Amino acid sequence: MKCRVCKGPAVIDVRRHNANFCAEHFLRLCRDQVAKAISQFAMLAPGERVLVAVSGGKDSLALWDLLLELGYPTDGLYVGLGIGDYSDSSATYARAFAAERDLELIEVDLRETHGYDIPTGAKAAKRAPCSVCGISKRHVFDRAALDGGYDALATGHNLDDEAAVLFGNVLRWETDYLARQQPVLPARDGFPRKIKPLVRLGERESAAYCILRGIDYEVEECPMAVGNKHLGYKEALNAIETTSPGSKQQFYFGYLERAASRFTTDEEDGVGDGVALSACQRCGAPTPGEVCGFCRLAERASQAQPVAAPVRKMAS
Ligand code: SF4
Ligand code: ZN
Ligand code: ZN
Repeated sequence: MKCRVCKGPAVIDVRRHNANFCAEHFLRLCRDQVAKAISQFAMLAPGERVLVAVSGGKDSLALWDLLLELGYPTDGLYVGLGIGDYSDSSATYARAFAAERDLELIEVDLRETHGYDIPTGAKAAKRAPCSVCGISKRHVFDRAALDGGYDALATGHNLDDEAAVLFGNVLRWETDYLARQQPVLPARDGFPRKIKPLVRLGERESAAYCILRGIDYEVEECPMAVGNKHLGYKEALNAIETTSPGSKQQFYFGYLERAASRFTTDEEDGVGDGVALSACQRCGAPTPGEVCGFCRLAERASQAQPVAAPVRKMAS
């Protein structure tokens, strides 16, 4: 197996590109793909300040490292979700990455700041943990990005994530979500600009990137992900990718290039409640009602009896 660029010994094959790479040229490929995504979708201008949402996993730490390599001033944001030892362990990776590079890591602990954690919030709201987690993270991310005056909030969603979300949205013909599924969402109505610079990299590549760069990351899956539909969609797409390499890329980028513009949001269609957004009476975030969904969740969850997180399975 030889590197496509230098013909030296290769360390990884990227079947999607039908090519093998040595460590140096694989790392360069990752940087080039991120730089290409940033310019293709006009995510950032040179020198803009970025807040990176870091979970302690491979994608978000690779993203932080790649943005630094590309010269963007960045800080990290870690949200303590209170998912038992999974959260404790993930936090140590995020803190170590920041400390070793002398970077700023903002930490927001849900229980300390808002009085609940994800297992308790899910039970109190009678909702799936990932749904409660999503609302909670979005609120904390938006607030921190706006309060810190960052130009954009970056998340580590990769090609596998975006293709799986697209697959789920197509299966249910969620036209409103399809219209919003973009790698960059401009700042609007009190929301920060949101960017996904890893959309041109698969999760196998972000893992290889971390290993080759010596970045330690949390390898365990979140114990609350069990039964998550997103994981099933990923498995289905992986099966297709095995027999037809490049399918995921064609599915996702084909959608962005040729189909995304055909979908309109409920807001654009004038359906849904159609109410203009105003500031939440509790937190000031934009909301169609008087009190936003996050504040209603936090109020109910913070009064509930704490629930323990499921014990995570250790890798064998
Ligand atoms: Fe949150 Fe679900 Fe991800 Fe766990 S798997 S961190 S609960 S979104
Ligand atoms: Zn090479
Ligand atoms: Zn609110």
